[in-house]
Amino acid sequence: MVRNILESKCPNCHQGHIYDRKEWYFKLGKPEMNKKCNHCGYSFEKEPGFFFGAMYLSYALGIIQALLTYAVGRLFYDVMFDLRIVIWIALVLIALSSFNMRLSRTIWIYLFKRI
Ligand SMILES: [Zn+2]
Repeated sequence: MVRNILESKCPNCHQGHIYDRKEWYFKLGKPEMNKKCNHCGYSFEKEPGFFFGAMYLSYALGIIQALLTYAVGRLFYDVMFDLRIVIWIALVLIALSSFNMRLSRTIWIYLFKRI
Protein backbone atom coordinates (compact mmCIF):
# COMPACT_ATOMS: atom_id res chain seq x y z
CA MET A 1 0.00 0.00 0.00
CA VAL A 2 2.84 2.41 0.80
CA ARG A 3 4.25 1.80 -2.67
CA ASN A 4 0.85 2.49 -4.26
CA ILE A 5 0.59 5.73 -2.30
CA LEU A 6 4.08 6.83 -3.32
CA GLU A 7 3.31 5.98 -6.96
CA SER A 8 -0.11 7.73 -6.67
CA LYS A 9 -2.03 4.71 -7.90
CA CYS A 10 -5.79 4.35 -7.65
CA PRO A 11 -6.82 2.99 -4.20
CA ASN A 12 -9.51 0.85 -5.79
CA CYS A 13 -7.80 -1.02 -8.67
CA HIS A 14 -4.11 -0.14 -8.06
CA GLN A 15 -3.74 0.20 -11.86
CA GLY A 16 -4.86 3.72 -12.74
CA HIS A 17 -3.07 6.87 -11.67
CA ILE A 18 -4.41 9.71 -9.57
CA TYR A 19 -2.26 12.23 -11.43
CA ASP A 20 -2.36 12.79 -15.16
CA ARG A 21 1.20 12.11 -16.08
CA LYS A 22 4.27 10.81 -14.39
CA GLU A 23 5.35 14.12 -12.94
CA TRP A 24 8.58 14.68 -11.23
CA TYR A 25 7.78 14.68 -7.51
CA PHE A 26 9.81 17.79 -6.76
CA LYS A 27 8.44 19.94 -9.56
CA LEU A 28 7.33 23.41 -8.61
CA GLY A 29 3.68 24.23 -9.25
CA LYS A 30 0.35 22.60 -8.60
CA PRO A 31 0.17 18.96 -9.70
CA GLU A 32 -2.60 18.10 -12.17
CA MET A 33 -4.99 15.52 -10.77
CA ASN A 34 -7.55 13.29 -12.49
CA LYS A 35 -11.16 13.49 -11.28
CA LYS A 36 -11.66 9.75 -11.83
CA CYS A 37 -9.46 6.70 -12.29
CA ASN A 38 -8.69 6.13 -15.96
CA HIS A 39 -8.78 2.35 -15.40
CA CYS A 40 -11.82 1.63 -13.17
CA GLY A 41 -13.66 4.97 -13.00
CA TYR A 42 -13.23 5.37 -9.22
CA SER A 43 -13.97 8.98 -8.25
CA PHE A 44 -11.05 10.54 -6.37
CA GLU A 45 -12.90 13.66 -5.26
CA LYS A 46 -15.87 12.56 -3.15
CA GLU A 47 -17.46 16.01 -2.89
CA PRO A 48 -16.54 19.65 -3.48
CA GLY A 49 -13.94 20.70 -0.93
CA PHE A 50 -12.95 17.10 -0.23
CA PHE A 51 -9.27 17.95 -0.21
CA PHE A 52 -9.43 20.71 2.42
CA GLY A 53 -8.58 18.07 5.02
CA ALA A 54 -5.48 17.11 3.06
CA MET A 55 -4.05 20.51 4.01
CA TYR A 56 -3.65 19.23 7.57
CA LEU A 57 -1.62 16.30 6.28
CA SER A 58 0.43 18.66 4.16
CA TYR A 59 1.00 20.84 7.22
CA ALA A 60 2.15 17.80 9.22
CA LEU A 61 4.52 16.78 6.41
CA GLY A 62 5.90 20.33 6.34
CA ILE A 63 6.52 20.28 10.10
CA ILE A 64 8.36 16.96 9.86
CA GLN A 65 10.48 18.24 6.95
CA ALA A 66 11.23 21.50 8.79
CA LEU A 67 12.35 19.60 11.89
CA LEU A 68 14.53 17.27 9.80
CA THR A 69 16.03 20.26 7.97
CA TYR A 70 16.72 21.93 11.32
CA ALA A 71 18.37 18.75 12.64
CA VAL A 72 20.62 18.49 9.59
CA GLY A 73 21.28 22.26 9.46
CA ARG A 74 22.16 22.28 13.16
CA LEU A 75 25.17 20.07 12.37
CA PHE A 76 26.68 22.82 10.20
CA TYR A 77 26.35 25.74 12.62
CA ASP A 78 27.90 26.24 16.04
CA VAL A 79 25.05 28.06 17.77
CA MET A 80 21.82 26.38 18.79
CA PHE A 81 19.64 28.53 16.55
CA ASP A 82 21.20 30.24 13.56
CA LEU A 83 18.93 32.35 11.37
CA ARG A 84 20.53 30.84 8.26
CA ILE A 85 18.81 27.57 9.18
CA VAL A 86 15.46 29.34 8.81
CA ILE A 87 16.40 30.22 5.24
CA TRP A 88 17.30 26.59 4.57
CA ILE A 89 14.01 25.44 6.09
CA ALA A 90 12.09 27.90 3.88
CA LEU A 91 13.94 26.72 0.76
CA VAL A 92 13.28 23.05 1.57
CA LEU A 93 9.58 23.71 2.24
CA ILE A 94 9.22 25.64 -1.03
CA ALA A 95 11.03 22.91 -2.97
CA LEU A 96 8.85 20.18 -1.43
CA SER A 97 5.51 22.01 -1.60
CA SER A 98 4.36 20.20 -4.75
CA PHE A 99 5.52 16.87 -3.31
CA ASN A 100 3.62 17.56 -0.07
CA MET A 101 0.45 18.54 -1.89
CA ARG A 102 0.54 15.45 -4.06
CA LEU A 103 1.41 13.05 -1.23
CA SER A 104 -1.11 14.53 1.23
CA ARG A 105 -3.94 14.32 -1.32
CA THR A 106 -3.01 10.74 -2.16
CA ILE A 107 -2.95 9.75 1.53
CA TRP A 108 -6.28 11.56 2.00
CA ILE A 109 -7.83 9.57 -0.84
CA TYR A 110 -6.54 6.33 0.69
CA LEU A 111 -7.86 7.30 4.14
CA PHE A 112 -11.38 7.73 2.79
CA LYS A 113 -11.33 4.84 0.35
CA ARG A 114 -13.76 2.69 2.36
CA ILE A 115 -16.21 5.47 3.20
ZN1 LIG B 1 -8.89 2.54 -10.44
